[in-house]
Amino acid sequence: MLTCKELVAHSSDFLDGQLTLRQRIAVRAHLAMCGNCRRFIRQMKLTQAVIRQMPEGELPELEALSERLAQTRRDDD
Ligand SMILES: [Zn+2]
Repeated sequence: MLTCKELVAHSSDFLDGQLTLRQRIAVRAHLAMCGNCRRFIRQMKLTQAVIRQMPEGELPELEALSERLAQTRRDDD
């Protein structure tokens, strides 16, 4: 079973679809049991989606951005 640390280490590859099937299953199994990591992944997804829509050369300050996302999506289960 993955630890939370391992999950965080794999998270960007997970979201980019770069993990092997076995790794993906391990990540999903962890997410099924771990609300903190579910929130973390959801946050990452939102952040990536926003960044992809940014015009090139206009990267926002990521911390401010994810903070804003955290506020708008808080407790949105
Ligand atoms: Zn976890």
